[in-house]
Amino acid sequence: MAAIYSTFMTFLNQGDHIISASAVFGSTHTILTKYLPKWGIESSYFDMNKPESIEALIKPNTKMLYVETPSNPGLDIIDIEFVSALCKKNNILFVVDNCFATPAVQQPIKFGADLVVHSATKFIDGQGRVLGGVVVGKKELIQPLYLFVRNTGPSMSPFNAWVLSKSLETLFIRMERHAASAMQIAKALDGHAKLSSVKYPFLESHPQYDIAKKQMSNGGGIVTFELKGGIEAGRNFLNSLQMISLTNNLGDSRTIASHPASTTHSKLSLEERAAVGITDGLIRISIGLENAEDILEDILQALGE
Ligand SMILES: *Cc1c(COP(=O)(O)O)cnc(C)c1O
Repeated sequence: MAAIYSTFMTFLNQGDHIISASAVFGSTHTILTKYLPKWGIESSYFDMNKPESIEALIKPNTKMLYVETPSNPGLDIIDIEFVSALCKKNNILFVVDNCFATPAVQQPIKFGADLVVHSATKFIDGQGRVLGGVVVGKKELIQPLYLFVRNTGPSMSPFNAWVLSKSLETLFIRMERHAASAMQIAKALDGHAKLSSVKYPFLESHPQYDIAKKQMSNGGGIVTFELKGGIEAGRNFLNSLQMISLTNNLGDSRTIASHPASTTHSKLSLEERAAVGITDGLIRISIGLENAEDILEDILQALGE
């Protein structure tokens, strides 16, 4: 979050406007709606599934456009090249949160993004050991950001930096394994009688499958599905898991399941949850590095097979 917050504070001034996808990480949404307005920075939101609606939101004071692709937890995907062309035309800084894909799977700068942010806490470390964040971009953009961080303090400790530098050595091979298992599990679950849908970027049924294929080298490590029985079914599913961990983290060597409607987002109303893409039966699984058959077996037995 320090990486994201520092990016906002470095490049936005009083009176500026930021356009963001409505489906962004909860704390990012809180910065946009609660803190930035204190300094006179306003924001507008668009639906990830309607990129054609972005243009109408652009104002003379629009300075930045912010997206997460794939989004957390909805796995919505946006065409980075399309959005970057719009930003270039209107002189808007385009920032992509690449946390779900990691640089091993998607490199938004190749498709025209100006800055890329990552939560290194997730797949980049990949072993649940440290908190960290990254901002990537051209030197002339990173220099003022570096000065902001240096003067205000959200810097990484040397030990965390060392751990993360070791993590990078295995990132590509880990992401291949996360993705291969995720693909296998998504395919096996697709069409299951207890599920109304299964979502994974590289499943042909994903609404933005063609875009995923264009900008991602594999589908990443997150699979989501919708249980037919709503909140109660979600609670039962979590309680029935044996091997898979229950926590709100993701991108770990261990498989992690979460049910936002009964946990992280239980205080929100049905409408508020729907607005951020969280339905009552939505389960997010961060596929770990265990044997894929074991992961699948645990999911299937928790579904009551
Ligand atoms: C977790 C997460 C963050 C925040 O990362 P921290 O390392 O917890 O500060 C930001 N964006 C996305 C998409 C995330 O999943």
